[in-house]
Amino acid sequence: MTTPPAPARNIDRWTPLLDPPAFPPDRYALIADRIKALLMTENDVLLIQAEAVVALEAVATSIARPGLKALNIVTSPYGGWFGKWLARGGADVVTLAAEPARAVTIDAVRQALDAAPDSAVLALVHAESASGICNPLDEIAELARSRGIVTVVDAVASIGGHPLDIDALGIDIAVIGPQKALAGPAGVSALSISPAAWKLVSEENSPRDSILSLLDQRAWIESGRAALPGTTAPLEFFALEAALDRIEAEGVAATVARHAKASHATRAGLQALGAMPWASDRTTSRLVTTVEAPATSTPSEIIAAASDLGCELTSGVGPGAERLVRFNHTGNRARFETVLSAVTAYGIALQRLGLKADIGSAAAAIAAAYAD
Ligand SMILES: *Cc1c(COP(=O)(O)O)cnc(C)c1O
Repeated sequence: MTTPPAPARNIDRWTPLLDPPAFPPDRYALIADRIKALLMTENDVLLIQAEAVVALEAVATSIARPGLKALNIVTSPYGGWFGKWLARGGADVVTLAAEPARAVTIDAVRQALDAAPDSAVLALVHAESASGICNPLDEIAELARSRGIVTVVDAVASIGGHPLDIDALGIDIAVIGPQKALAGPAGVSALSISPAAWKLVSEENSPRDSILSLLDQRAWIESGRAALPGTTAPLEFFALEAALDRIEAEGVAATVARHAKASHATRAGLQALGAMPWASDRTTSRLVTTVEAPATSTPSEIIAAASDLGCELTSGVGPGAERLVRFNHTGNRARFETVLSAVTAYGIALQRLGLKADIGSAAAAIAAAYAD
């Protein structure tokens, strides 16, 4: 993607970025309803006019109170922040850290809950773009539900790339952002919230008159979703609408299948190339594939060796992911040409560094995955 040129200082120049029409107020609640359908939930859906990290901080801040016991699963910096926000609000947080850059296991979650049986909240990230893993959400949600524990799921990097049936799984709070698999804007996010989770939002401790206040947002729902919470950011909301139009036209199941195919093809291509994907097929993210750099090179050397090829290879982020190279097949990148070019570029980089890479076999494996 090329960066647009710096704007000329010409105030007569027409730009679509300035003076947009107001976002029609009657379409605000409609967007929440479309997200409800996407998440397959009857729970309330709130729109947050900020990037998804702010929605996550709002959830933690609004449910935290002294004495609240929470089990927080940490598989990336996002999960670590969530635990800190809960603790800042006085909650009693037990941290369950998975092995660095690995998915948590259901056995570890069961043990942690057995050791902290009065946990009222269980929080986790569904899929991680930082390391390319996916936690076993279905099993964890079932376990939490069987014990009456409210679940909070960061689904920002899974919505649209992994099946996510909020009500079937009984997830109490799910936070999503449109900018990953949904290929939408990054400046707005959303969350679904169940009646059980609303009960945790305590009137005494929850902030009011704050971007972090879910109670302020409840006022919007209680007003029959009439009075909008603040000025709607038109550019973000028109972009969100366009992203939803495109996802609904494709069908979210097809969007998920497109990411699964990109993931399978990337993994098959890497294996044929002679590189082993970092995560198992069961615990991999479908948005991002990671691979450990060969012992003789660093991820930045490999990325630099491929930098003239115009493919998006990046290093892993967070503890344990330092030696990982990431293949990004998220959103509009979840397609044949991106997968083929990125895996090929990785092979070229390895060869340039004097390492072996069977690019022919990799291309054949990707072709076979897409020919299915
Ligand atoms: C991208 C992402 C977020 C949100 O990040 P923003 O930069 O705030 O949009 C949150 N959680 C996870 C797991 C993510 O991958």
